[in-house]
Amino acid sequence: MLKFLLLAVLVLWLLYSPGVRRLVRGLRADEPDSDAPAPTRRAPAPPQPLTMVPCARCGIHLPSSEALVDDAGRPFCSEAHRRAGPRQS
Ligand SMILES: [Zn+2]
Repeated sequence: MLKFLLLAVLVLWLLYSPGVRRLVRGLRADEPDSDAPAPTRRAPAPPQPLTMVPCARCGIHLPSSEALVDDAGRPFCSEAHRRAGPRQS
């Protein structure tokens, strides 16, 4: 009976011992670490997806953040194309 109790204590110690938990966590690296404080473990925010817009002159696609926009709100790939205006079709 005492042997059984000691075994139960040993199992509980293995389950809850910080050292053993760290070892198990090391083997399963993809498991999130719930013990660590969140700010130090937080990964940087993922970059926002780029919105691609076509140049109104030549049709080349470029990120909206790099597009030059004319008074009408049309995106252009370059200053030259913005001055040239949208493609006439
Ligand atoms: Zn263009």
